[in-house]
Amino acid sequence: MARIDRQEEGEARADKVAHLARRYGRIRQEIARLKAMEQALTDAPDGQISLTDPDARAMATSARHSGMVGYNVQTAVDTETHLIVAHDETNQSFDRDQLSPMAAAARKALRRDDLHAIADKGYFSGSQILACHQAGITTTVPRPETSGSRAGGMYVKADFAYDPARDAYLCPAGEELAYRYMREEDGLRVGLYWTNECQSCPVRHRCTSGKERRITRWEHEHLVDAMRKRLGGEADPMTLRRCTVEHPFGTLKAWMGHTHFLTRRLKNVGTEMALNVLAYNIKRVVALIGIRGLMRAIAA
Ligand code: SF4
Repeated sequence: MARIDRQEEGEARADKVAHLARRYGRIRQEIARLKAMEQALTDAPDGQISLTDPDARAMATSARHSGMVGYNVQTAVDTETHLIVAHDETNQSFDRDQLSPMAAAARKALRRDDLHAIADKGYFSGSQILACHQAGITTTVPRPETSGSRAGGMYVKADFAYDPARDAYLCPAGEELAYRYMREEDGLRVGLYWTNECQSCPVRHRCTSGKERRITRWEHEHLVDAMRKRLGGEADPMTLRRCTVEHPFGTLKAWMGHTHFLTRRLKNVGTEMALNVLAYNIKRVVALIGIRGLMRAIAA
């Protein structure tokens, strides 16, 4: 504006000044809008705002920075009939709080006293595994390997063998890591184990950079040990899981289109999913017992 004031005179100058003043006003408005959004983002409890659907949230996917915003659909599928016996929709980006609610819902739907719930490693959570155990539900969930230690040639916890009789771990160098004390970690009580032989250990460079290697053991770790045993057995539960639960998901996605729900808001998405599950289950029952069988079952 100042440059135009110096260089030009008359009407042309007045037009340009008015034009620039309008643009300046628009920019100020946009800055105010973005500042308000920044404030709303700061105030949002989970640091997210979705303008298209206020309930949708960024989902954690295996593809990094995929920017997938949507919902997290949970299904429990019966291994015998391949019917979807329970489903739920959340906007939590992770699965680790879903194991016991879904297992309990599946058991209720199946009207069983016992249940073996198999889930992938995203569902691994000590508190959820314990909740299932206390409810009489057996769980098999692989523990995710979160540290990159194995890839870096370092020993991981799985390389340490637990001896229940001695309540001690045997390390790769053959030393016994004795129990020392309990402490709380992420809300779970864990015992600490170590040996005083680490300083003179020939493979210490593959084990620890500290004074000694410490191993933690959750107070209910026997549940995880039992799961590991089941996972290492002849019939691979994870293959059974894949063959059971992924197929209905694939079919439903093919029906619905791979990209999005037709509705918005969590409640509506729940209804949309329920209709799809109902349709899937009806088709599945027809395949199992035929239309006549289904009509007879409905009438009964
Ligand atoms: S550093 Fe300690 S715990 Fe690790 S292998 Fe050696 S003796 Fe065992």
